[in-house]
Amino acid sequence: VISPWEAANHVMDKLRASGFQAYACGGAVRDKIMNLDIRDVDVATNALPEEVLRLFPASIDVGVEHGTVVVPVKGDAVEVTAFRGKTIEEDLSMRDFTINAMAMTREGEIIDPFNGRDDIENGIIRGVRDPEARFKEDPLRMVRGYRFAFAYGFTIESNTAHAIGLHASLVKKSAVERIGQELEKMLPLSKGSLIALMESPIAGGLAPLLYSRQKWLRLLSCYNHPFTVDEVPLCWYILSDDNLTETLNRYRRSNLLKKQAGIIERVTSEIVTAGWSNQTLYQAGEEWIYSCEKIRALLLNKEPEFSTVKKKFEQLPIKKKSDMAVNGKMLMEEFQVSEGKWIGNTLKKVEYAIVTKKTENTKTAVFEYIRKELTG
Ligand code: ATP
Ligand code: MG
Repeated sequence: VISPWEAANHVMDKLRASGFQAYACGGAVRDKIMNLDIRDVDVATNALPEEVLRLFPASIDVGVEHGTVVVPVKGDAVEVTAFRGKTIEEDLSMRDFTINAMAMTREGEIIDPFNGRDDIENGIIRGVRDPEARFKEDPLRMVRGYRFAFAYGFTIESNTAHAIGLHASLVKKSAVERIGQELEKMLPLSKGSLIALMESPIAGGLAPLLYSRQKWLRLLSCYNHPFTVDEVPLCWYILSDDNLTETLNRYRRSNLLKKQAGIIERVTSEIVTAGWSNQTLYQAGEEWIYSCEKIRALLLNKEPEFSTVKKKFEQLPIKKKSDMAVNGKMLMEEFQVSEGKWIGNTLKKVEYAIVTKKTENTKTAVFEYIRKELTG
């Protein structure tokens, strides 16, 4: 596989060969200077989106109205965005924080008009130019400022912090899906950072989720076992008010996330009162058993018992649908019925019966079970 830098370099070389300027910029430059892992390298160019599309015919014009084109490169994808303004310096001056407002030439030279490198060295989050005006222009920048401060252990510079203090209440005007995105990126933070976030001026703007201090405290009490970046649905389950689906809708989260959070909700409400059963282990599946165990422990104020849960899960007769000894086609043949509701319903009942050990997971046993229990 190709590295994000190789992918970006390929795009920059081609742009430059056609006479355009092209720079790596934003998060990638920041993370490179900080020696952190880099997931993607964004490119800024003076080429217009149409010109980028012409140079890279396979590219996807998802964000053309914002000047962004996604260029696929050998399994990776590079976001190419037209300068906001005439020059790279002007483009950088529109960015949020000095540490995010650097660019890098193809030769590796850093363009750093706002001294972002010094701020990285000194651990400082500083708004670009006039922070007050910039936060009024886009209040979500305040949330981002806190996120970067927490993620890197940096301090928010006093002028910038003062501006946040003045305008924190504007955060709630940001688009809910943007707030949701930032929250998801923040939740796997350390215990100390989450406490600080709860006490920060922007906490109110992250409402209604953060108004529920009770829930935050509960979340924090389980931080001996912090959430990972793969446990986003878990965070939403813990933080949402009583109606999880409504909360996820309110923050416009994806259908996949809703589905995953739904599994966690169903399984958790069961195991908190009744403990784990074959059915709940199977419902959670390998992907979510440990997350659900974490919540069970959290809600009951106990230590999670990961190894016990793992052992029980290993002993399940089947661990996923495809482990079943029969499928729809086999049922149609054996019982001489055509495709339809009966097949689907019967498969569901059989799946449950196998999981709860009412029948063995063999063709013969299942057919017998269907004849005895589900027909006639
Ligand atoms: P992450 O590591 O979380 O992806 P990032 O800095 O790459 O952090 P992105 O949201 O991917 O964040 O944005 C890429 C770049 O675009 C930022 O580094 C910053 O220069 C600029 N940017 C993003 N959001 C804003 C904003 N709200 N206002 C101004 N500039 C922004
Ligand atoms: Mg990024």
